[in-house]
Amino acid sequence: MMGTLADVVAYPEGETARQASVGAFGRMDEVEGLAHRQRVDAPASLKGELAAILGTGLEVSRASSGAFDPTLGEVIALWGFDSEKPHLPEPDDLSDALGRVGYRRLDPAVPGSVSPFGNSPPIWLDLGGVAKGYAVDEAVESLRGRGVSGGIVNAGGDLRTFGSKPGGKPWKIGVQDPDHPQELAGVLTLREAAVATSGDYQRYFEEGGVRYHHILDPATGYPARSGLRGTTVIAPDCALADALATAAFVLGPVKGLKLLEEWDGVEGVLITDGGEILTTSGIGKSIPFEKR
Ligand code: AMP
Ligand code: MG
Repeated sequence: MMGTLADVVAYPEGETARQASVGAFGRMDEVEGLAHRQRVDAPASLKGELAAILGTGLEVSRASSGAFDPTLGEVIALWGFDSEKPHLPEPDDLSDALGRVGYRRLDPAVPGSVSPFGNSPPIWLDLGGVAKGYAVDEAVESLRGRGVSGGIVNAGGDLRTFGSKPGGKPWKIGVQDPDHPQELAGVLTLREAAVATSGDYQRYFEEGGVRYHHILDPATGYPARSGLRGTTVIAPDCALADALATAAFVLGPVKGLKLLEEWDGVEGVLITDGGEILTTSGIGKSIPFEKR
């Protein structure tokens, strides 16, 4: 789903868990259907779940001064990151499309954001930076509602743990090493939490010896080169963790760390271009973290 693999761990083992997992995958499919690139011509079309996913996105847009921007759809399409063959866009097309990007165009907190819709160009939403997390949250709700007492839902590294393992031990969640994604940079020990990771090693192509990855800087329309290779965020829910991980990646080590530090109930582990590991103040305290 959403360009990645999803998996579910559900306890206690058995038929209830198996059937509940099927239900949880179904729920994630439904969310995936919503999260595809969407054209918004009128704000009235934004309702229900789509509005809920967008709401979390816009909250993070505001807090990150637009480093996270759910209106990048047209720009992302030019790069073709969700196609078979991503490629460098024409600079003119890029600057043209960038002119129509801007979360403020949708933000109900901005006076007048909605009224000029009538004759202004449509907005293309891309919720790829927050919808995986939302899907994980919904899958957890679905499992709990069907009698699962503990488990993990993981959508390609955006995950949520709930309840406890048999035996009551906490969950161990590995943080990938961006240079060697098969290996771990560290291990987090968690009870109930959501964890989401953004990295330049997750989706990219190379051209002329340059790596172009899928997390774009809304200021330029090009892949963010902020000094980070990976951002892992721990938050109460996975939609928030997902959006914050993408935002922190774009913001870079200083502003990204500040965003996470200042958000109540949120912690983070950032890995820089040089391989340095930066953490918020609760990592190693309220959340045990073992570097590898
Ligand atoms: P993630 O993997 O959660 O970091 O999200 C990356 C995905 O979010 C991309 O594949 C795009 O669909 C979308 N995206 C890329 N750059 C941004 C951005 N600056 N703000 C919001 N969404 C983005
Ligand atoms: Mg994200």
